[in-house]
Amino acid sequence: MNSPTVPVKTRDDCIALDRADRLAIWRERFSLPRGVIYLDGNSLGAQPLATAARVADVIAREWGQDLIGSWNTAGWIAAPQRVGDAIAPMIGAAPGEVVVCDSTSINLFKVLNAAWNIVTSEARAPLRDRIVSESDNFPTDLYIAQGLGALLGGRVRLDLVDSASIASAIDSRTAIVMLTHVNYRSGAMHDMATITRIAHDAGALVVWDLAHSAGAVPVDLHAANADFAIGCGYKYLNGGPGAPAFVWVHPRHHDRCLQPLSGWMGHAEPFAFSPVYAPAPGIARFLCGTPPILSLAALECGVASIADAGIAALRAKSLALTTCFIDMVDARCGEAGLDALELVSPREPAHRGSQVSFRPKGKLVGETYAIVQALIARGVIGDFRAPDILRFGFAPAYLRFVDAFDAAEALADVLATREYADARFQVKAVVT
Ligand SMILES: *Cc1c(COP(=O)(O)O)cnc(C)c1O
Repeated sequence: MNSPTVPVKTRDDCIALDRADRLAIWRERFSLPRGVIYLDGNSLGAQPLATAARVADVIAREWGQDLIGSWNTAGWIAAPQRVGDAIAPMIGAAPGEVVVCDSTSINLFKVLNAAWNIVTSEARAPLRDRIVSESDNFPTDLYIAQGLGALLGGRVRLDLVDSASIASAIDSRTAIVMLTHVNYRSGAMHDMATITRIAHDAGALVVWDLAHSAGAVPVDLHAANADFAIGCGYKYLNGGPGAPAFVWVHPRHHDRCLQPLSGWMGHAEPFAFSPVYAPAPGIARFLCGTPPILSLAALECGVASIADAGIAALRAKSLALTTCFIDMVDARCGEAGLDALELVSPREPAHRGSQVSFRPKGKLVGETYAIVQALIARGVIGDFRAPDILRFGFAPAYLRFVDAFDAAEALADVLATREYADARFQVKAVVT
């Protein structure tokens, strides 16, 4: 499906788009509460209906009846590779190049250290002491890089620049460029191939975090000639809360890169029980400990819910949805005489991921959290990202054009009526 060429104005326009949408039936594969418009699938993806039965079967039969034999008979031991292979085509990786394990934060630590080991084994290494990233990267990525720097006794330090200055910040002192492909706050997407080329030309390696890309935006790691990538299982891949993450390494690095969490699952022969670590060939060396089978079973259903729809079709629908939403918010706020929201996400579709973010301005400064709470009270679930971002994720597998319309109406209404000013919307919860 292509982005509509004329601006979508009415609810009937949206109903017509939903009728023409070949992915519309996909929504029936998900558990979505009635009366809720869920615009937070970029933070916690919705639950595929297949998941509950699959996890129940793992519990009742595979674990309950077959006990430890299931490591072999139910394919538990191969689950990290099997689910990795299901993710691979969405990110431009080949079979056998992706494993699922640990969390995004932990996988980032592993690949950063592996990249550092490669860089420092090369001749020009002593001069390279910088990890270049952007100040607006997701904090855990920055914290992990800072932690690695401390562990390495300050031999590498994090250089933070704004997103427009990344290319110019990469130089002969750069060891690693560490970026998130789609920014979690703004939804702005980096040009992966160009930045990777600039980094390589300067002799640096590149680590891409695909947390807000995988499952929503087609990624081509091989075409971009990337070095390392990691990503999240519980966002657009619908793997469930705390789902394990994935890790990819370009095969040219496989046999020369050692990661620091050298656990037995990444050993060449875990069941030889040798006292000496010997890394498995290929990506398997990025495994650490025993795989979380219940979580992997849920993630496998989540990945299927996306893979079966096709990433190209999902991307086309995602862009159509976000474009409609931006147009409708502009139009509704304009009609209501509200010059209230600044679009933070790129207006150019090719430059944004699958979310739309705004920053309230004028009288609304400081009210972002309350606006989000007022919308949630109406069943429109978006989220607040400090300090002042109003964020709406559009998971194309289960959202309709009428959802985008109704959410835009609700937003304009909450602003026009000043509903957000109600005291009950001002109280902050721990998780925002
Ligand atoms: C969501 C997200 C994470 C999450 O990391 P966890 O280890 O799963 O908590 C990391 N990086 C980015 C860029 C994210 O968007």
